[in-house]
Amino acid sequence: MDVARLRGALDRLAARYNASRLQHDPLSIVREYQGSPRDQEVVGLLAAVLAFGRAELIIRAVRDLLGRMDRAPYEFVLTFDPAGDAPRFVGWQYRLWKARDLACLLHLLRQLLEEHGSVGSFFQKAYAETGSVAGMLERFTAYMLSRDCSPFYRSGRLPARAPVRSFFPRPSDGSACKRLNLYLRWMARGGDTLDTALWPTIPAAALVMPLDTHVARISRYLGLTRRRSPGWRMADAITAALRQVAPEDPVRYDFALSHLGISGDCPRRLDLAKCRPCPLNSVCRRYRLASARTRRAAR
Ligand code: SF4
Repeated sequence: MDVARLRGALDRLAARYNASRLQHDPLSIVREYQGSPRDQEVVGLLAAVLAFGRAELIIRAVRDLLGRMDRAPYEFVLTFDPAGDAPRFVGWQYRLWKARDLACLLHLLRQLLEEHGSVGSFFQKAYAETGSVAGMLERFTAYMLSRDCSPFYRSGRLPARAPVRSFFPRPSDGSACKRLNLYLRWMARGGDTLDTALWPTIPAAALVMPLDTHVARISRYLGLTRRRSPGWRMADAITAALRQVAPEDPVRYDFALSHLGISGDCPRRLDLAKCRPCPLNSVCRRYRLASARTRRAAR
């Protein structure tokens, strides 16, 4: 890997996408709550929970939620009463998530806030005690799955198939934990116009790439990984490769890589017309191979 060349290409990519794509990303809603860290933490968590599917639909669903919470999310969750407040969400749905799932999540989150004061306190303490992102996520998932759910499920525990469970994966099960790593990126890193840097005791150097489908395939084009299955080991391998490019901040290019795919500028089906203006074409193996094939065919 030619690290200097890759860094230059990724910097050009970030310069093109970081500012221009922010309004198309759920992170833009988190940034609207600047000046109110506790609200930002809750908004970020809700946006991360729903961070699957098309970005504009995620943004619409999160805005709808926040409206139903009187745009005071921290206060709303801290005083959330399943019987009195759950009816506010009737009619809300995002893919498999229905009003009841959301109310159950808020009930779990309220228990965390009551015990730890803020989401950030929980995560920063868990990082201090475990010393790794994987350890911190294991701790978070174990904690949330052990909370009471009795207003929603008679057993008091989340059933195996409850949609809420999907937000509590474990690295030790091989999951890439994409939405949790995305949430951590939003909360822990900073230094540019994107993430909030709200959790300074979790170093950006320790974060793990939030592995969405675009980041996974484009990382393969760049030779950052050879793995094909998008689990924790692939996220770890890509992060390790990017650590050579940006040791203090290996996930700094996540936003730009993801939006290169989301925007349609790097489609799944190769399109050389889109590759020619792509800032990554000098380091993209897929483009190099396709260009060589085209030249050979033209001879
Ligand atoms: S050069 Fe083409 S295939 Fe490679 S990352 Fe850019 S758009 Fe995608």
